Amino acid sequence: MTIAGEGNRINSHTTLYGVIGDPIHHSKSPIMMNRAFRETGINGAYMAFHVTNDQLSGFIAGVRAMGIRGVNVTIPHKLDVMELLDEIDDGARTLGAVNTIVNNNGRLTGYNTDGIGYVRSLKEEAVSSLEGKRIVVIGAGGAARGLVYALSGEKPGRMTIVNRSVSKAAELAETFSSRADIAALPLESLKDACQDADIVINTTMIGMYPNTAASPLDASWLREGTVVSDIVYNPLKTKLLQEAEERGCIIHGGLGMFIYQGAYAFEYWTGKPAPTAAMREVVMDALLGQA
Ligand code: NAP
Repeated sequence: MTIAGEGNRINSHTTLYGVIGDPIHHSKSPIMMNRAFRETGINGAYMAFHVTNDQLSGFIAGVRAMGIRGVNVTIPHKLDVMELLDEIDDGARTLGAVNTIVNNNGRLTGYNTDGIGYVRSLKEEAVSSLEGKRIVVIGAGGAARGLVYALSGEKPGRMTIVNRSVSKAAELAETFSSRADIAALPLESLKDACQDADIVINTTMIGMYPNTAASPLDASWLREGTVVSDIVYNPLKTKLLQEAEERGCIIHGGLGMFIYQGAYAFEYWTGKPAPTAAMREVVMDALLGQA
């Protein structure tokens, strides 16, 4: 039986990996990670496991019992899984969520690769250094937490979090205030914030399939040359990015964040560099195939 494509045969030495969530069967992680194993010649198999809240502790006991080497964690388990692990990496503890578990002989360590994956993607694909940059982050939910944590480690000039519920933006700004100059503003201030920004990042789901006609801002607020980034990757080019491109902005889509959060997980599990080009290719094919 071949699970990860030609050349990746399951045998009694195969190491098991997987992703848990509820729902989970929309996830592109299995095709991406199995392609990465095939590309690097690692004898691994990566599965999607539908795990509900009441099954979470049983699943983690199973990880220990079965020797599952690595697990990615998605909604709704990123917070609750933390208390079931032996150790939490500093970054994941600070931002308060785990999306990657490494199993070292039964000792489970939690990491968060979402924010660092996003920053690696932004720097490789759009802007090589974030030092001194004025960054506007729209949204203050779970994804924004990881981003703000990782961005605040890049010596930005100033960060502004703009959110519909301004109290959540203020709480996020306060959490990371020792790492960077971070302000919180209500959505009504987004126009002014955009006009004074080097980089504008959408971390809300506005514009995500099926609501592809929506955008979190009026493109006339954007200055030419501003980097406009959207963490939504379905569609690959959101309305925000289409309009920003027409305004002469440098655009950056959300696919890279997905690829690089997976790349870091792969590297933590295997100690080998992730084959990011192959990972991107297989996910792009899957997304274009379903469009
Ligand atoms: P979340 O925790 O539910 O946060 C959602 C955020 O969007 C909140 O700040 C919320 O504001 C805001 N928001 C939602 N609807 C809005 C509206 N109509 N008008 C204004 N603001 C609105 O969600 P999340 O986990 O952060 O995920 C957000 C998006 O990121 C999703 O589309 C997800 O698919 C995407 N994502 C992408 C990647 C990737 O790898 N590229 C990774 C993670 C997430 P309030 O606080 O006021 O409710």
